[in-house]
Amino acid sequence: MESRIRAGERVVEVPQARDAMLHFIGRIHTPWSIRSDCPRQGREDGPDCRVEVFAPWAEALLGVEGYQHLDLLYWLDRARRDLVVQNPRNDGAHYCGTFALRSPQRPNPIGLSRVRLVGVEGATLIVRGLDCLDGTPLLDIKPATCAFSPQTAPHPDPDPIRPPR
Ligand code: SAM
Repeated sequence: MESRIRAGERVVEVPQARDAMLHFIGRIHTPWSIRSDCPRQGREDGPDCRVEVFAPWAEALLGVEGYQHLDLLYWLDRARRDLVVQNPRNDGAHYCGTFALRSPQRPNPIGLSRVRLVGVEGATLIVRGLDCLDGTPLLDIKPATCAFSPQTAPHPDPDPIRPPR
């Protein structure tokens, strides 16, 4: 079910979806069945969660056990897709555009979490650091290595639009 719009939030009419031919490659099993129980962002000291990878993709897990951390991309299937301005604190005072937030409500509700790999049981990964509802569809798994390599680490912005707070 979609969340309700808060006072002052703005929605748009969503254009007809074009099929990107995505495959749901698995399903994520977490202890949370309602949104208010989910953490806003996962933590490594959070509970073990199970990431089930469906056939025929299980073979693509070959080698993942060599990584301590993985980036998981998932489809926040119970999110609204029409919100452009949001009031994340629900206080009627602070508004942000969707692309300035990690809110689940977005045109393409893709969630991204860097998780700690705790174990591999056949086609199921045991991970810590998730924040999604039980049954959330899985889009992709990537090893979390290069994001912090010297070649790809982000450089400090020499000319920020706004000075960091
Ligand atoms: N870590 C991801 C990211 O930064 O892209 C997701 C962050 S989002 C703030 C996490 C929140 O999304 C949870 O606290 C919960 O309220 C909501 N959520 C989790 N699973 C969802 C799902 N399957 N559909 C819609 N909302 C979901």
